Amino acid sequence: MRSIYLDNNATTRVDPEVVEAMLPFFTDQFGNPSSTHAFGSPVGVAVRKARRQLQALIGAEFDDEIAFTSGGTESDNAAILSALEVMPDRTEIVTSAVEHPAVLSLCAHLEKARGVKVHRIPVDRHGRLDLEAYGTALTHRVAIVSIMWANNETGTIFPVAMLAEMAKKIGALFHTDAVQAVGKVPMDLQSTAIDMLSLSGHKFHGPKGVGALYLRRGVPFSSLIKGGHQERDRRAGTENTPGIVGLGKAAELALKFMDDENIRLKSLRDRLEKGVLQRVPDSFVTGDRLERLPNTANIAFQHVEGEGVLLLLNRSGIACSSASACTSGSLEPSHVLRAMDIPHAVAHATIRFSFSRDSCDEDVDRVLEVITGIVEKLRDGSRSRPRG
Ligand code: PLP
Repeated sequence: MRSIYLDNNATTRVDPEVVEAMLPFFTDQFGNPSSTHAFGSPVGVAVRKARRQLQALIGAEFDDEIAFTSGGTESDNAAILSALEVMPDRTEIVTSAVEHPAVLSLCAHLEKARGVKVHRIPVDRHGRLDLEAYGTALTHRVAIVSIMWANNETGTIFPVAMLAEMAKKIGALFHTDAVQAVGKVPMDLQSTAIDMLSLSGHKFHGPKGVGALYLRRGVPFSSLIKGGHQERDRRAGTENTPGIVGLGKAAELALKFMDDENIRLKSLRDRLEKGVLQRVPDSFVTGDRLERLPNTANIAFQHVEGEGVLLLLNRSGIACSSASACTSGSLEPSHVLRAMDIPHAVAHATIRFSFSRDSCDEDVDRVLEVITGIVEKLRDGSRSRPRG
C-alpha cells in the first residue's frame, strides 16, 4: 500500500532539486561565506543568490531586506523582541488569538515577565479577524502588530496589507508570520506597508532549520542573536550555507510552479471537501471558505474523536493531522478552533488535510474510499460504549 502524505502544513518533503543544490555545500564548497579567499568567496556568492531567490518569491524591493535565520520561530521572536527594544516608549503588542505558538507563547511570556500589554484580537466562527476590535487596540502605545498571513490549521488568510496600513497610521511596526503563506500565495511586499515578515523553508519543500526574516529597509532593528557581523549585524553566527542555498532553490521552484499549482491544489482540496461532506453526515469545513490557502482543508466530524480518525487513517496509510502538528500529542483542543467558538466536542473531532505539489488525485480518491467506513466505525463504537 502506497503511503499518502496529507500533512504538508506540518512539513513538506525536500524537493530533490533542492537536495541536489545543497550537496556541494557539504563537500567541496565548505568555505565560510565571510572569508574572502578562494574557499569562501564562491560560497558568499551562493548565499547572495539565495537572497535574490527569496526576494523574488516575496516581492521585496531589495535583496538585502532578507536576513537568514533558523526558521519561522526564530524570525517571529526576533521581530517582536526587536520592536520592543527599538521603541522603548511603547509597551503594547497587538496580535490575534489564533497565531502560532511561536508568537503566542512569546507574547504570554512577555506579559508575565515584563508586564507588556498584549491585545489578542478575536476571530469570528469562520476564523475572520474582528476588524473593529483591531481598530480599537491600535493606539500610540503599540510597538508592534504581529498578525499571521495565513492560519496553519484552517488556512484562513488575513487581510495583512490592509492591517499593515492601519498599523502604520499609529506609527507601530507591522510584522506578519507568513510561514504558511510564503510559497503558496503570490506576494508583492514592496507594494505593502509590511515592515517585517517571517518565513520558513520546510513549509515549501526546502530544508528544515532554515528560514528568513524580511526587514524593510530603514526599519529599526536590534538582532536577537548577538555575536559576529553576519547578515549585516541582523543575525550573528556563521551562516547555514547548505540550508540557505536549499532555501533559495526552494523559493525559486515555489515561484516557478505557484500559478499552476494553486489551481491544481485548489481543485484537489475542493474535491476532497465535497466528497467527504457528501459521504459523511454531520461533517463540515471550518475556516473561511473564500479567503484561504488553496492547499488546506480542515474538516470537523461530529460525534467522534479526531485522534481516532487520525489513527484509523494512519492505519490505512494516510497521514494527516488532528490539530497543528505542534500541539498534537496534547489532548487540549486547538486554541484556533476554540477562538472560533467551535464547541469543545467538535474542536476535538477536526482533521486537517494539507496538500502540496507532491499530492495527486489518487490521494484524494484513497481518502474518499476509506473515510466513511472510518467515521461510521468510530460513531458505532461510541454509541455502543456503556455510559456512566
Ligand atoms: N508559524 C506558523 C504559522 C507555523 O505554521 C510554524 C510551523 O508550524 C511556525 C511559525 C514555526 O516555524 P518553524 O518550524 O520554522 O520554527
